[in-house]
Amino acid sequence: MQEQYAVPAVPRPTVAVDGGGPRFPVRRIFCVGRNYPEHAREMGFTDRAPPFFFMKPADAVLPNGSAVPYPSRTLNLHHEIELVVALGKGGREVLAGDALELVFGYAVGNDLTRRDVQAAAKDAGRPWDTAKGFDHAAPLSPIVPAMSCGHPDSGRIWLEVNGELRQQGDLADMIWSVPEVIAELSTWFELAPGDLVFTGTPAGVGPLVAGDRVQGGVDGVGLLEHTVAAR
Ligand code: MN
Repeated sequence: MQEQYAVPAVPRPTVAVDGGGPRFPVRRIFCVGRNYPEHAREMGFTDRAPPFFFMKPADAVLPNGSAVPYPSRTLNLHHEIELVVALGKGGREVLAGDALELVFGYAVGNDLTRRDVQAAAKDAGRPWDTAKGFDHAAPLSPIVPAMSCGHPDSGRIWLEVNGELRQQGDLADMIWSVPEVIAELSTWFELAPGDLVFTGTPAGVGPLVAGDRVQGGVDGVGLLEHTVAAR
């Protein structure tokens, strides 16, 4: 018998899988902060402090080719291009040496950020949820299964706005590698199939305005494209 709910049950968010197979059901979205030394420095921090985690709601995902509505309550929406890891298996206290066994595949995502709101939250010692976890804050490309693309540990990651290069780096520069990210995360949370992990952004973050056309990519993984629409 179908379970009954007291209010409408919103369907689980999903992400396309490259090649047109069944879609990937999103459980949680974890994000790594300051995982590239150059980005840590551009944000005014040392590149020697360990990275850390924050989250976005699962329904922040938005498919490739979307028009992202410019969010409310900000005058400084920023782009952050990132390699996204999609987990096909769960676990806790996972060893880095075993971590890649959890990975279903990889995507390219934009960790959209209300930068002015984030700066105010930092100053006040307040949470980042309103800066990072807003509606439509996680556009991402279709997930490429690891059986097709392997497990990338180096390669160019980049973002262009209206054809102009804004961000560029290499996956090899990540302070925590993908296996280390999964191992660390699994000491805080029991990971589950459907979890997505945004692995941090290289240097060059900056503002987006309505009308912008965003393209970003990770070598061997894919291409993310979206626009920014007036609210
Ligand atoms: Mn980020």
